[in-house]
Amino acid sequence: MRNVEGEPALILRRTEYGESDLIVSLYCRSLGKLSALARNARKSRKRFGAALGVFTLSEVALQAKEKSELWTLVSAEPVRSYELLASELATMAQAAYGTELVRELTPTEHPEPELFDLLAGLFESLTRDGASVGRLRVFEMRLLHTLGLAPVFDACSDCQTRELAEGAILDPSRGGVLCRSCAPNARGYGVRSLDLETINYLADAQRCEQLRDGDLLEGRSCAIDARQAMLSLLYWHVGKPLKSVDFIAKLSNKS
Ligand SMILES: [Zn+2]
Repeated sequence: MRNVEGEPALILRRTEYGESDLIVSLYCRSLGKLSALARNARKSRKRFGAALGVFTLSEVALQAKEKSELWTLVSAEPVRSYELLASELATMAQAAYGTELVRELTPTEHPEPELFDLLAGLFESLTRDGASVGRLRVFEMRLLHTLGLAPVFDACSDCQTRELAEGAILDPSRGGVLCRSCAPNARGYGVRSLDLETINYLADAQRCEQLRDGDLLEGRSCAIDARQAMLSLLYWHVGKPLKSVDFIAKLSNKS
């Protein structure tokens, strides 16, 4: 038996279990992603209160059983509720997207405190300043970087040339781009052509260290191509469609 107390955690997903329980997927700052059984969480609202709401940062106490991946949630106290996120569609969609990416891309019980801070930082940024396409691109880049999956945009993955003035071909299976000469070698899911402006946009997003630096990317005409390129890369890593993406696509078509 192992007990953990005072652990900062973000709620990634809630799944109903049995008559009255919940299984919550958590991203814990010093434990990484894990699943925990919250007994009676649906029967008694008092038991965990608002601590298990989506977009909530809570401090949790957990108990691990031997030979079981499922932890037991002993207690949870809300520290910061980003409830504002749910009141506006665009911010909620971006928060849900960030949450889904962390949930789908992170290995179980592999702690990355930087990743916890990145997702909490996204919620903070969305709550304070609203939705931002540029900041979301930076979030994706930081996430891939932290997971050791940073894409390469400034050199051909085959011949290593940096002469990409005529544009390049994105090949998600190689985690980067191919120059025009090596283009016939591109294969697989999500292969697409990128012009120089889009390549530069993606390289700029990758150089940003803070989410707010993404404000420099706002208003550039290749933003939609850059978004499609990032989705191709992320789909390749996740291996299945992302639910929150359809929602964001519908929103952007309206605006
Ligand atoms: Zn090449």
